[in-house]
Amino acid sequence: MNDTIQSRLHHINNLIHAAVEQSARSCGSVQLIVVTKTRSCAEIEEAIAEGQTAFAENYVLEAIPKMLALKQYPLEWHFVGAIQANKTRMIAEHFDWVHSVSRKNIAQRLHDQRPMHLPPLNICIQVNVDSDPAKTGVALDEILPLAEHILTLPRLRLRGLMTLPSRLSSEQNPATSFQTLRQAQQRLQKHIDFALDTLSMGMSQDFEIAIAEGATLVRIGHAIFASVNN
Ligand SMILES: *Cc1c(COP(=O)(O)O)cnc(C)c1O
Repeated sequence: MNDTIQSRLHHINNLIHAAVEQSARSCGSVQLIVVTKTRSCAEIEEAIAEGQTAFAENYVLEAIPKMLALKQYPLEWHFVGAIQANKTRMIAEHFDWVHSVSRKNIAQRLHDQRPMHLPPLNICIQVNVDSDPAKTGVALDEILPLAEHILTLPRLRLRGLMTLPSRLSSEQNPATSFQTLRQAQQRLQKHIDFALDTLSMGMSQDFEIAIAEGATLVRIGHAIFASVNN
């Protein structure tokens, strides 16, 4: 097969579609977010040529020049990295989604700095489902207080939960971490009077398992950009 970004993206879309059908979920219930960290604008444009419009970055200073260079395209940008307080303004001004909120003061700053001419910033709370000290994200019992705080902030729109499972546990059984996140979302939903619609989980290695466990956004990088030949 012709090994290009476009062909790999096409293949991943087919695999997502198959995984959605396999788990008897409705067509279109899973959105692919292409993670473009370390990738050039030329590489991102190949994905755009295949019809992709949703992209994610995890370093603000790397992301913004690329976002500006690609401004002629109608793209949706997701921030998925660790958030330093001194970068919240740039995130609030440039991104459509933030998947990696795990502290009240960061949520507050994103809210205060979200420009009035933009719609509310879409937010996922990052959850450390495996209690891995090396991972960021709130503990399971910290989700509700953080969610309640976010719900008081009108410039933010809480959409759901995100996780980055620890490598050890994903080698053992990635499904367990994804189930933990889904159950946490169900518990949170009982306290909230509008529907949370987003479970951001699953990457190149495990997106099909994540889809079987209820992912609505999958974040995929190297399966699309890294050639099988290198
Ligand atoms: C890099 C990254 C991804 C994509 O990982 P791949 O293994 O390249 O698919 C997904 N989510 C986050 C938060 C990332 O930093």
